[in-house]
Amino acid sequence: MRKKIIAGNWKMNKTFDEGMGLVTEIVAMVKDEYNGSAHVVIIPPFVHINAVSRMVSEHNNVFGGAQNCSNHDSGAYTGEVSAAMIKSCGASYVIIGHSERRQYFGEHNDWLAKKTDAVLKNGLTAIYCCGETLEEREANKHFEVLKAQVSEGLFHLTAEQFANVVIAYEPVWAIGTGKTASTDQAQEVHAFIRNLVKEKYDETTADTLTIQYGGSVKADNAAELFSAPDIDGALVGGAALQSRSFVDIVKAMK
Ligand code: PEP
Repeated sequence: MRKKIIAGNWKMNKTFDEGMGLVTEIVAMVKDEYNGSAHVVIIPPFVHINAVSRMVSEHNNVFGGAQNCSNHDSGAYTGEVSAAMIKSCGASYVIIGHSERRQYFGEHNDWLAKKTDAVLKNGLTAIYCCGETLEEREANKHFEVLKAQVSEGLFHLTAEQFANVVIAYEPVWAIGTGKTASTDQAQEVHAFIRNLVKEKYDETTADTLTIQYGGSVKADNAAELFSAPDIDGALVGGAALQSRSFVDIVKAMK
């Protein structure tokens, strides 16, 4: 059975008190209003991970996560945070290769492959992001770009390791723009990614892979996106910064 996952990426938002208030509200609302089995993942800035992960630990389906991690285990890498540190703070998931990391911090597929290794080595689940820019889609190069991102970042893994990978398809042109990919556009790409995984590994690995969609997901478009057979949840940015809008997206996953 494929796991459904709704993850909220806070990016560089929320002071400590604001963050704690938001998590308190989300946990209470999920408990009162959601009786489905999707995993809810709260992904705050690094400095809040410990507190957030502890606050969600009593709720079976809610987990903490990190937005990034180092590809190194430890050492003289000022400003970096290792996967082992994230694990020790109680988090379960780590986003790898968000388009903002690729775009502003020059993170390339070969580097992301090493970060993914660090995440898996520490018993965490990687949420590996991929997605094309508007220029790439308009030039009809999106499948080529996605294939390179997925294969170069992930296809060195064994099928066993792949069980702890989630892929998030996030078309760059839809992130924070209010422009969502249509359900058909997203479904087409998700099916393409699942097929890549099937060709590389096997049917079971492909069938059990969770593929999230990300890019301006809101309460009013989530249910339609989630109705597509290969869309297994969402990676949410802006709408994850308020409890009501985030939990309404969670509730759209039946
Ligand atoms: C994201 O940052 O991963 C994202 C999808 O953002 P938004 O929902 O704001 O488009």
